[in-house]
Amino acid sequence: MTKIAFIGLGNMGGPMAANLAKAGHDVTATDLSIGAIDRAVEAGCKRGDTVADAVKDADIVVTMLPAGAHVRSVYTESYGVIGNAKAGALFIDSSTIDVDSARAVSGVASEKGFAMVDAPVSGGVAAATAGALTFMVGGADEAFQQARPVLEGMGKNIFHAGAAGNGQVAKICNNMLLGISMIGTCEAFNLAEKLGLDAQTFFDISSTASGQSWSMTSYCPAPGPVPSAPSNRDYQPGFAAAMMLKDMRLAQEAAHKAKAATPLGAQAEALYALMESAGKDDLDFSGVMKLINGRL
Ligand code: NAD
Repeated sequence: MTKIAFIGLGNMGGPMAANLAKAGHDVTATDLSIGAIDRAVEAGCKRGDTVADAVKDADIVVTMLPAGAHVRSVYTESYGVIGNAKAGALFIDSSTIDVDSARAVSGVASEKGFAMVDAPVSGGVAAATAGALTFMVGGADEAFQQARPVLEGMGKNIFHAGAAGNGQVAKICNNMLLGISMIGTCEAFNLAEKLGLDAQTFFDISSTASGQSWSMTSYCPAPGPVPSAPSNRDYQPGFAAAMMLKDMRLAQEAAHKAKAATPLGAQAEALYALMESAGKDDLDFSGVMKLINGRL
């Protein structure tokens, strides 16, 4: 039985820790929120009162935190993971964070003799609850192989993307593409409607033609053609525009540093930021349709 410390029991981490306990692992869970720890204990985890307390006996430490600053402090400060974990422990950070923080924290861990992988996820709370997440993993081969059985307790598809930080690279590049393709899909459906072509007929044609994409066939932003899509429930998420904006910002930050031209990524970030400034970023990201068709 693997001893796991789980840190960060929010919308995603809560169900992920519960699934690890359900899979038979010995999970000690901690968070800044006592309520979140209580819920994890109800779901079969042991109580960790502090990070140091949770990690001290763990073979594997999993973190699911909001952003890079949280990951840096939870790992590197004196109260944190690196200073209190036992020798030989493996670290798995599943938070979505900037590539530089992922590589910096992995570097500090490595200097102190610990292996670490970044393993951000694709799939929201529903996939976390169902144990059906996709993991994109960056780190050494050996660390990836060691992390795999734990990740299998929380997800279905597990990809090794290469060296440290490459999991985050895969995640932000995928989400930048998704954010852009969603806006293009909205523009096409809106133009079709304005020109007198109904959404279903356009969908029937374009979904089997060259305009086809996941944004259209699995998540159509126009109500009607894909019944399970958030567009049919007034754009309740799903994947909130606020989360998409976070990922678009991470992609732009990385693009600036890498001197990579991402003109459409920049435009897409600006459009999701308009949803934020309109106070509508709690809608699903496909609700960018409302911005495009003037009904926000
Ligand atoms: P959340 O805000 O619900 O949870 C984060 C948790 O971390 C909170 O419970 C918070 O108390 C805890 N935390 C913060 N600082 C801490 C510290 N110092 N010590 C212990 N606990 C601490 O966020 P979430 O929705 O669970 O997302 C977590 C990560 O997963 C984010 O990086 C997010 O971008 C990514 N993600 C989220 C989704 C989603 O649909 N929610 C999907 C994919 C990826």
